[in-house]
Amino acid sequence: MRYPPAIQKLVEELIRLPGIGPRSAERIVFHLLKSPPDETVRLAGALTELRKKIHHCSSCFNVAQSDPCPICADVRRDQHTLCVVERPTDVVAVERAGNYRGRYHVLMGKIAPLDGVGPEALRIRELIGRVKRGGIGEVIIATGSDVEGEATALYVAKTLKELPVRVTRIAHGIPMGSSLDFSDEVTISKAFQGRTPV
Ligand SMILES: [Zn+2]
Repeated sequence: MRYPPAIQKLVEELIRLPGIGPRSAERIVFHLLKSPPDETVRLAGALTELRKKIHHCSSCFNVAQSDPCPICADVRRDQHTLCVVERPTDVVAVERAGNYRGRYHVLMGKIAPLDGVGPEALRIRELIGRVKRGGIGEVIIATGSDVEGEATALYVAKTLKELPVRVTRIAHGIPMGSSLDFSDEVTISKAFQGRTPV
């Protein structure tokens, strides 16, 4: 038996989302049907605004509603230090830890040959460009400690080698095989303090 088309359509859209299977999708749809109509309107509005208002900062590639993003635009932040992370969620994790005061460079992924993601798919060229323009004293590589995160760190370190910049890697207080955004604030702070030159 199939649901009426409007339900079926939303179920099919929801199933495309990460972590949502057919059962969860059905549960969400029926929850929406029995909740007050304005709740659904707010959700639809938030989804539309998401794509309309969110862009990538042209400097660090983090998600933002302005360009440059608030972090790049903040003159009180240390302009000589760049922290290289995989995803926007990592920026939030490091910011939450609270003691990093430099800027970021978001690669928008990690090198994953098995998934067909090579270095050219990441914002590595743009990182080199930023360093070459000068004024950067240290690049802290804060990619995850899983195999792809390590491979990405190695690649980034290698490409920066010829440039006059100190390159460091955060310490492995981050649990092995884990990504930054799953780590707690204390672990992240310790990993930054214990960073080593590469
Ligand atoms: Zn930015």
